[in-house]
Amino acid sequence: MFQRQKVWVPDPEHGFIMGCIVDLGLDECTVQAFDRSRKPFVCGLDRVYPAEEDENKEVDDNCGLMYLNEATLLHNIKLRYSKDKIYTYVANILIAVNPYTELKGLYSSETIKKYKGKSLGTMPPHVFAIADKAFRDMRVLKQSQSIIVSGESGAGKTESTKYLLRYMCDHWGSSAGPIEQKILDANPVLEAFGNAKTTRNNNSSRFGKFIEVHFDSKHQVVGGFISHYLLEKSRICMQGPEERNYHVFYQLCAGAPEKLRQQLQLTKPDDFHYLKNGCTQYFVSSNSKLNSSQLSKAHQAKGGLRDPMLDDCNDFVEMDKALTRLGLQEQEKFSIYSTVAAVLHLGNISFEENPEDTKGGCRVCASSEKALNLAAGLIGADKEELRQALISKVMQTSRGGLKGTVIMVPLKVYEANNARDALAKALYSRLFDYIVGRINRSIPFKTSSHYIGVLDIAGFEYFTVNSFEQFCINYCNEKLQQFFNQRILKEEQTLYEKEGLNVKKIEFVDNQDCIDLIESRGSGIFSLLDEESKLPKSSGAHFTTEVHSRLGGHFRLALPRASKLRDHREVRDDEGFLVRHFAGAVCYHTSQFIEKNNDALHASLEGLVQESQNPFIQVLFSNASQQKGKLTFISVGSKFKTQLEELMEKLRSTGTNFIRCIKPNIRMVDHQFEGGSILSQLQCSGMTSVLELMQQGFPSRAPFSELYNMYKNYLPPKLARLDARMFCKALFQALGLNENDFRFGLTKVFFRPGKFAEFDEIMKSDP
Ligand code: ADP
Ligand code: MG
Repeated sequence: MFQRQKVWVPDPEHGFIMGCIVDLGLDECTVQAFDRSRKPFVCGLDRVYPAEEDENKEVDDNCGLMYLNEATLLHNIKLRYSKDKIYTYVANILIAVNPYTELKGLYSSETIKKYKGKSLGTMPPHVFAIADKAFRDMRVLKQSQSIIVSGESGAGKTESTKYLLRYMCDHWGSSAGPIEQKILDANPVLEAFGNAKTTRNNNSSRFGKFIEVHFDSKHQVVGGFISHYLLEKSRICMQGPEERNYHVFYQLCAGAPEKLRQQLQLTKPDDFHYLKNGCTQYFVSSNSKLNSSQLSKAHQAKGGLRDPMLDDCNDFVEMDKALTRLGLQEQEKFSIYSTVAAVLHLGNISFEENPEDTKGGCRVCASSEKALNLAAGLIGADKEELRQALISKVMQTSRGGLKGTVIMVPLKVYEANNARDALAKALYSRLFDYIVGRINRSIPFKTSSHYIGVLDIAGFEYFTVNSFEQFCINYCNEKLQQFFNQRILKEEQTLYEKEGLNVKKIEFVDNQDCIDLIESRGSGIFSLLDEESKLPKSSGAHFTTEVHSRLGGHFRLALPRASKLRDHREVRDDEGFLVRHFAGAVCYHTSQFIEKNNDALHASLEGLVQESQNPFIQVLFSNASQQKGKLTFISVGSKFKTQLEELMEKLRSTGTNFIRCIKPNIRMVDHQFEGGSILSQLQCSGMTSVLELMQQGFPSRAPFSELYNMYKNYLPPKLARLDARMFCKALFQALGLNENDFRFGLTKVFFRPGKFAEFDEIMKSDP
């Protein structure tokens, strides 16, 4: 870089701003921004990037630019976004910016048809192009494919996933067949039970999923299979301000037929404790097909704010229809809705200190007797047994290793509250497992040749307070990031080798050490957590101290005290630990790690559900612990680790495609580009290292045959008689292209960044 060159310099608000270097030092420079209102400032050279000559040039594939770096990528995306071009490629990776508005025709059947069978890059960037590439690769390479969709909450992962599935299941633009329709019907059901309104997204998925669409040897859809990960359980009992519980609760209250509402004793959401802790509003559209009494009931119940995006009443009808099309009979649907109602009534049971109990035990409040009765009825338990199971726990005294007598230990008010919430969470999360299993049973397949899997899972996250959920999701993102690096870098280098190009190997930062820190058997954080959980008197503070003392020297781990936290809050060293992730350092608060890592119900509750008179509840808990009621600890972390390993195994065996979703602003509005936060999303998704790789390599490429077809008409017929490779050689020689700008491989020409676009321009402007 030299003086007076147009450069991009970092800016906290916009990501980068344009300026020129006025003074150049050894590793610093002074920059004058083009915005003259700013004074010249000093900036580290490693964060200053060359800008493109023409600052208004935007390209479909970022590799068409001369300078591949964070700044030019951000600028290219910004230019395109301002023209409603929300998709951009970086080679084969698709970047998708959430438009937060319907873009006309972008996903129409006509558009679907246009993408069918087209090579990537021949049409404008699109999710459909990625779906089509996956399909073609599956056919040609005879290998299953996966599409990894990532991004932060509200970035558009789930919507993208829906478009991908529609492309695959809609028979490419015509109507869906019966199996395809069922695969599409899974979505409204999963969203009703697994999505909720949060401050980041009105329809936020609170679980991760991998949806496989299976094809037979004739490439027809034959069935599907859904795996799900980490449903957020805390939400069932408690929501943050302005957030809601899972949609289905409000849908049932608003949209269930009167008879069902009566049977389940459902009234308005404000009557239920589990729906009251966040925002209680729920919504009824004026054009819903309800009878007048239903409408008036529902309207009475309608709370504060209105949200045009949510229509609980209509969503119930749609979800219910989808369940029917998936093959569920009235009885089965009733069982599902009853379980949802059971959770709500359970939540209405409150406890108070029992003055008659000398050991400080508690009792059910008199005002909660009705709720206790309803909950017991819906769970299929005896009312008195449910009461006992909630206010006391069974313990076995052990003497000298021998099993002693069984005693009932009375619970304190807060302990009974915890027991009730644990039961509610167990019921709901098992119901969710059941529903996913049930969907899978309705889209079975016998002879699958290959599949295309779509992964829709939360990206890297850090909040003001980060707990076990963030720890799990960030661990998952470390694994996916490593996979991304290995795939993109390795595939690139393998291609160079295969084509006989002599390009030096490019190294990348491996995050295996961070993965080991978390998952190592015996010494990783998950193991230490499990170890702590099995102690008779486990505590968050002791666990945290163990983490620091046993893993203290690890480069990726730090004490919260010693590190400057982003939000300047004080976290004591035994209250948390800090992990240096690839995408940044995160401080985890450990106070609830032990509780959140445990899936076991206490013994008397476990016994209660297993001996339920309600066959549906029995099914939900049938595959629970083999040792009835004796298991006090079931590790959530271990289960996730295993699931993730299975997922990675699948991903490794497939051809992979990546879609990086970007949230343009936190206000969830259209046409607002917040550069600073978008830049950090690009960094978190690992795009920075990809750009580095591309800048050093040959990111644009075209098969000889493609170049031949594109340009043969521009040249004298004599040349056009040559074979494709010779034709290209002759052409390049005639144009006097710089030898360093391209390489000839076995089947393709490879171009340095920006050089293909340059060549294309020469050809088209100067025939
Ligand atoms: P995520 O799954 O990443 O949390 P969603 O896919 O749920 O995010 O998207 C959040 C919201 O953004 C959607 O409810 C929708 O309103 C809007 N949105 C996302 N993608 C698109 C799109 N391609 N076109 C229009 N609106 C979109
Ligand atoms: Mg989502």
